[in-house]
Amino acid sequence: MTNSQRKPFVAGNWKMNGSNELVEAFCSKLLSNPAVDIVICPPAVYLSKFSQAEFTIGAQNASEFASGAHTGEISLGMFAEAGCKYVILGHSERREGHYESNEVVARKVKATIASGLTPILCVGEPLDVRESGGVFDFIKAQLDAVAHECGAGYIKNSVVAYEPIWAIGTGKTASPEQAQEVHAFIRKELAALDASAAANIRLLYGGSVNAANANQLFAKTDIDGGLIGGASLKIEDFTTICQAAS
Ligand code: PEP
Repeated sequence: MTNSQRKPFVAGNWKMNGSNELVEAFCSKLLSNPAVDIVICPPAVYLSKFSQAEFTIGAQNASEFASGAHTGEISLGMFAEAGCKYVILGHSERREGHYESNEVVARKVKATIASGLTPILCVGEPLDVRESGGVFDFIKAQLDAVAHECGAGYIKNSVVAYEPIWAIGTGKTASPEQAQEVHAFIRKELAALDASAAANIRLLYGGSVNAANANQLFAKTDIDGGLIGGASLKIEDFTTICQAAS
């Protein structure tokens, strides 16, 4: 199956950015596009303000626990009540800055699927791993941890984002060829567990995607859209990126 048979998917990760004003601007100006699934993942406090929006909303992280003494955390059930359909999990800023191991991420993927939400599972290597030639082993370990915890069933119910850490927020994008190489590897790894689910899963590229480079990246066979950070805060740029995906 080629990417023309998988519906394109573009998610905006606002990280810890935004304001009431930006939310209002997105709600009134960002239009749905029937040819692409568009998801905005704002900081959690803004989620309820998106109830009239034309597009889908998602969370940037979630607790693996259902409730209880976890100060500052938000559960998957709460995100579902707030209208979320997706949850970004394993973002490198969570793995590195909040010490989330492959195993923690895997448990969160399991809990997310059980809650009825869809994980956007992020994988990707740091610069030293790329330079030493260990990209595939690094990503395989990230994927294997999820398969070990969840079984092959997670592939049917997830979106996977390849985000090389050296390309996130740096303005240094992976070339379309570098990105395609890793996407093809991810699809092959998933196909070894469930060939049909692997053919259907949307694989996103993330890392300094912008209005100028999106077209070339999304043209690659195994790149079905993007996870967009900085450029998702600018309505015009984000709209151009969504159009490039469609
Ligand atoms: C991200 O945070 O997921 C991301 C890809 O950021 P940026 O587009 O700013 O590199």
